[in-house]
Amino acid sequence: MGSQPNDARTRREIYHEADVVVVGAGIFGCAAAYTFAQQGRSVILLERWMHEPDRIVGELLQPGGLDALTKLGLGHCVDGIDAIPCHGYNVIYNETPVHVPYPPRDQNGRLTNQWYGHGEKGQRDVGRSFHHGRFIMQLRKACLGHENITVVETEVVNTIRGEDSDQILGVETRTTDKMTGDKTPDCFFGQLTIIADGYDSKFRKQVTTSKPAFRSKFYALELIDTELPQPGYGHVIIGHSCFPVLLYQIGTHETRALFDVPMGIPEASPDNGGVRGYIKNHAIPALPESVRPAALKALEDGKIPRSMPNSWLPATKQTPRGMIVLGDAHNMRHPLTGAGMTVAFNDVLLLSELLHPSRVPNLDDSDTLAAAMKTMYWRRKNYTSILNVLAQALYSLFAANDRELRALQMGCFEYFKRGMTDGPCGLLGGIIHRPIILAYHFFSVAFLAIGLHSIELVSAGPLGILKTPLVFVDAILILAKACVVFLPLIWREGFR
Ligand SMILES: Cc1cc2nc3c(=O)[nH]c(=O)nc-3n(C[C@H](O)[C@H](O)[C@H](O)COP(=O)(O)OP(=O)(O)OC[C@H]3O[C@@H](n4cnc5c(N)ncnc54)[C@H](O)[C@@H]3O)c2cc1C
Repeated sequence: MGSQPNDARTRREIYHEADVVVVGAGIFGCAAAYTFAQQGRSVILLERWMHEPDRIVGELLQPGGLDALTKLGLGHCVDGIDAIPCHGYNVIYNETPVHVPYPPRDQNGRLTNQWYGHGEKGQRDVGRSFHHGRFIMQLRKACLGHENITVVETEVVNTIRGEDSDQILGVETRTTDKMTGDKTPDCFFGQLTIIADGYDSKFRKQVTTSKPAFRSKFYALELIDTELPQPGYGHVIIGHSCFPVLLYQIGTHETRALFDVPMGIPEASPDNGGVRGYIKNHAIPALPESVRPAALKALEDGKIPRSMPNSWLPATKQTPRGMIVLGDAHNMRHPLTGAGMTVAFNDVLLLSELLHPSRVPNLDDSDTLAAAMKTMYWRRKNYTSILNVLAQALYSLFAANDRELRALQMGCFEYFKRGMTDGPCGLLGGIIHRPIILAYHFFSVAFLAIGLHSIELVSAGPLGILKTPLVFVDAILILAKACVVFLPLIWREGFR
């Protein structure tokens, strides 16, 4: 820090030396590189493939993520990419829809119905959905145009450690010559190396022994010129006949369909036509009628749809010795709720505040860096505990595979139907940052589920009243299941 921009550029370009080396020009890496550069740091951003990514991830940005992106000075990156405003969700349970919009704010910007019900009037926050690759190219363009950033297309293959200490000094890379295909070794040095190399991180194991776990994959189709029942809303299809399906428009003519397929389900066995068979015979029939023709057409090419694992990786504490690992490499949750980018942008915001040059002039000051990372670990829980728990808990309910979970799934839908939408959708949208509100709504759903299930039992035929003892047993089982789903998650995400 402190050198003139031109000196710093020379140091980056000739000597490959900067204040910060960022690995991965994806969602986290671009936002981090840009933010540190805005604070006057000299940044080298390393990315293995600079062409526009064609991926099925990171296509719906929640309002809470858009707000963080705007605070980082990158709000313009959702402009000019045919992004579609997203006003909330349309949840379709066994073919019955319920409208779950993001909550309105009063004149003072407050959300007045966080605990109960929903407001009708007031300005509502809005998210955006888009082609992931187009958004990434906008983020990269912002970095390429910044005088304090040098972007290099190269693959990072290793970290470089000091000879006498385990301090990370930078990274080793291989740069491919596009004409010959030859790979040239190179090195880049920084006071701090930020690793943001995504879900399949090569470097995660240097800071944690935790590995991502997944029990399902999302298979993707791109539907052309289809009509969603509620344009401008993300659609979540749940029910008895299939596992969750997400639908959201990512461009004027394109709609993304993501089909959750748990590992090893018999409906997707080779005898039943594999994943294509499951999508065709179970998932597409559960879609709104207006969407089915485009979904069948998208499946026509005969290929297995592209897929991604739906990973769960709780964050771990890091003792930085010149390097920190962040983004998906550090923390992942089921993508059902579209929270990954919201977590990433809020993390960049928090990190840049904690490492601001006025607080941490030298990033190679290990003790100050360690203290900042410890603070970050706990402070980020204000939003990650909500977004991560919600993603995992909702997935358990929406992919219900037993009686109690099905009762909770129905309870959740009925909760929305009774108008309890502002709190849940504010949490989902990354707008509400109070974990206690999540606990309140989760257990309200559980008690509603118990009530509804009990009524269903005793009102089933003339002898229903004889089932009263069963009502108590089931009430305990449903409450116990809600606790089993929620409490370990909130303990892991909120308190450890
Ligand atoms: C199916 C699915 C759907 C999702 N949908 C949404 C959604 O709608 N909304 C949402 O908010 N989140 C969503 N997510 C999550 C979101 O995509 C991620 O949280 C987000 O992309 C994480 O950003 P990142 O920067 O950590 O990783 P990435 O965005 O994956 O970026 C990693 C970058 O590092 C580069 N890289 C990797 N290795 C190297 C190397 N060795 N050298 C140089 N460069 C390297 C990669 O090329 C890439 O550019 C979804 C996830 C999945 C699985």
